[in-house]
Amino acid sequence: MQHITDRFISYVTVDTEADPNSNTTPSSAKQWDLANKLVEELKAIGLQDVSIDDKAYIQATLPSNIDEKVPTIGFISHFDTTPDFTGANVKPQIVPNYDGGDIILNKEKNIVLSPSYFEDLLLYKGQTLITTDGTTLLGADDKAGITEIVTAMEYLIKNPQIKHGTIKVGFTPDEEIGRGADFFDVEKFGCDWAYTMDGSQIGELEYENFNAAGVKLKFKGKSVHPGYAKGKMINSMLLATKYIAKLPKKEVPERTKDYQGFFHVVHLDGSIEETNVQLIIRDHNRKKFEKRKKLVQKIADKFNAKYAKQFGEDIVEIEVKDQYYNMREKVEPMMHIVDIAEKAMKNLGIKPIIKPIRGGTDGSRLSYMGLPCPNIFAGGHNFHGKYEYVPVESMQKAVDVIVEIAQIVAKQK
Ligand SMILES: [Zn+2]
Repeated sequence: MQHITDRFISYVTVDTEADPNSNTTPSSAKQWDLANKLVEELKAIGLQDVSIDDKAYIQATLPSNIDEKVPTIGFISHFDTTPDFTGANVKPQIVPNYDGGDIILNKEKNIVLSPSYFEDLLLYKGQTLITTDGTTLLGADDKAGITEIVTAMEYLIKNPQIKHGTIKVGFTPDEEIGRGADFFDVEKFGCDWAYTMDGSQIGELEYENFNAAGVKLKFKGKSVHPGYAKGKMINSMLLATKYIAKLPKKEVPERTKDYQGFFHVVHLDGSIEETNVQLIIRDHNRKKFEKRKKLVQKIADKFNAKYAKQFGEDIVEIEVKDQYYNMREKVEPMMHIVDIAEKAMKNLGIKPIIKPIRGGTDGSRLSYMGLPCPNIFAGGHNFHGKYEYVPVESMQKAVDVIVEIAQIVAKQK
């Protein structure tokens, strides 16, 4: 437990905030600080073929210690943190034997982590929690995942009596800005399948995520002096709001859950002459997803037809771009990879929580790049903000799950 805590703290105290405005990979130079440190550590614990490329993607190998040929599996996590909240000068606080009450994160600023607001805390009564000091995020997303993978590899190396096939380790930059899979060398990784250790609560196991598309709309108008505008002016801002009003009102993020998809307006800026709107479309079901994309196109077509005479050209331009797809399509034909993770948890007395992700993971993109990749809990809660925390016991359990999966796969023919 102390070993895991120390390792985790050595990672979260290195600032690795991603920068969405940068075009380089990694998006922020400071991600190299932790990446280089991880490379040294992977070598030091005895992994083979430890490599880091010019974009800071790390791979390493734990060679098989059995004669039989069994599947090669991988474990993946990301070392960047979200730009949504600062990750500089993280000062982790350790709360041993949590009593189920309020945790004062910051006395001066009166920032309290309370189970009356975050009821999940009560799951961890009596355990050791690591929290922030209320001024930064913690970075358990996903340095908890890295801690668990490194610790599990170290454990397997130190305990050669535990039999396993070839296991690969992959750490990526820039997951939080949606680029973690961009330059992942799936071929070099050479795995039959992998798991991202990037989920939240202990027991989480995910192999379904949204299908996702981004929509850009440009409404065009005609500016005329308002005193002389009758029959002449076209106000593009009003067109844009009319368009938005035609989308199904109940199908928005704030009114949907579970498998319900949505349209979500994420950006709007305009003047009389031109208004730009950005939407995102999300749905687990591929057919419904395609239908949603058709609907946004159809509404645009109707606008264009209606204003064709008056405006002389298309009054709205639309661009629909697919972003990622539900990994279920790629995982379902090899459901044993989910079953193995589920069995590993059950063997360890962990209740699997299998539910669809209302978002995407790097695993969804990797699954479509040829590496089926379900997601397993890393143990943290309240990601992307100052209330983020992780129970050390959950990290330990995640280590156990990795070791258990390795053993189950070693028996696969
Ligand atoms: Zn993450």
